[in-house]
Amino acid sequence: MTDTIFAKIVRREIPADIVYEDDEVLAFRDLNPQAPVHVLFIPKRAIATLDDAVPGDAALLGKLLLAAAAYARAQGFEKDGYRTVINTNGHGGQTVFHIHVHLLAGRQMHWPPG
Ligand code: AMP
Repeated sequence: MTDTIFAKIVRREIPADIVYEDDEVLAFRDLNPQAPVHVLFIPKRAIATLDDAVPGDAALLGKLLLAAAAYARAQGFEKDGYRTVINTNGHGGQTVFHIHVHLLAGRQMHWPPG
């Protein structure tokens, strides 16, 4: 269930344009970008969806968000702003069942999202 295409990227079985990595987090460019900058932050240890996260995952989820924020700041995106998104299950629009934070930047975002 959690052995998705993202797990294959973690294991380097398929290529990805990796922009950040540490012991627990990997970040790579989305194949189908929805903004000039569209990077996905994933935990190396797979959690399928936000709904599957448990209290023991709190530190890992925090690291994921802080890694996205640190990357955004390092790139200077915080000045104009950026968006972070976690899609969950069908109505959330989730298509890859390895939890990930989308970081979108480089254009004006709109609300509500589609
Ligand atoms: P979600 O719909 O929230 O599950 O997001 C999944 C995202 O993964 C989509 O934006 C896809 O474009 C992206 N994606 C799917 N396969 C790959 C891949 N091999 N490398 C990079 N991004 C991918």
